[in-house]
Amino acid sequence: MQVIAQAPVTLLVHGGAGTLRRADLSPTQECEYREILDQALRAGQTLLLQGGTALDAVVAAVCVLEDCPLFNAGKGSVFTHEGRNEMDAAVMDGATGQAGAVAGVVSVRNPVLAAQAVMQRSGHVFLMGQGAEAFARAQGLALEGPEYFHTAHRWQQLQTALAQNQVMLDHDGHRSQGQPAPEPIDRKFGTVGAVALDAQGHLAAATSTGGMTNKMFGRVGDSPLIGAGTYACDATAAVSATGAGEFFMRGVVAHDIAARMAYGGLSLAEATQATLHEKLDATGGRGGVIALDRHGHYQLAFNTEGMYRGVVQGEGPPQIAIYRD
Ligand code: ASP
Repeated sequence: MQVIAQAPVTLLVHGGAGTLRRADLSPTQECEYREILDQALRAGQTLLLQGGTALDAVVAAVCVLEDCPLFNAGKGSVFTHEGRNEMDAAVMDGATGQAGAVAGVVSVRNPVLAAQAVMQRSGHVFLMGQGAEAFARAQGLALEGPEYFHTAHRWQQLQTALAQNQVMLDHDGHRSQGQPAPEPIDRKFGTVGAVALDAQGHLAAATSTGGMTNKMFGRVGDSPLIGAGTYACDATAAVSATGAGEFFMRGVVAHDIAARMAYGGLSLAEATQATLHEKLDATGGRGGVIALDRHGHYQLAFNTEGMYRGVVQGEGPPQIAIYRD
């Protein structure tokens, strides 16, 4: 009888990709990022080792990152053109194919919990704006005022973005129809995400973001769109993306990786590299993905200078990286 070895429980996290060079972070800052990625991984790992589900593990890991102002999700979210924080999040359970997402929430402390609640208790997949807020309130989720989400460094990023926009757009802060959206100013995408494999062999994915600095009021990115920034299916892969969302939406990146595996028989590594380096590169899209299959094979892949990222398998210690080493 052939004995198939059980893959170890596995958790991957990302905290955004972009122009991340060694010179950009002081040793102290680097330590802070590493520490919080470590915390996120350990939070999910503890659950997985206790027999918890992949879904619970990705939500726990993302909550840690949402609560940390260093990342562009929950506290520390970037500002829209109008100076507001509008957040998006999604979860997907590879075991059941169920998914939940919220977009444009302004007061939900942990948008990923709202996405999970949408999946488990709304009968829908995607709630946006005031409807998502009302649902989160009715579910008893923690809400916060704008001051909770406001951080000085994100406000400064908006001021820089506004100033450069005025130059780029002839002192007109609004784009006219058909004009391409300007490149993100600081070229760092601080969105957070997690993918996990649990002891039952199930996969899950979660992603949470404040979007892009100086985004238009009402703009929604790829993170909460199932198949674009977030996807999970036990038969193929769990994927969470980060990068310039418009490219990830047009490329349906997360599902593209799973589809190459399902229809083309590619391995996780082949599928991820093909999607990133053949498809995304060709359109000029920049960013990265974390991807995991049910055998515990994983990818932390990006076409930018760096990506905040980490992985933990079984009882092993978290491994964390930031730059393209
Ligand atoms: N993908 C996100 C968005 O476009 C941004 C990010 O990854 O930081 O909203």
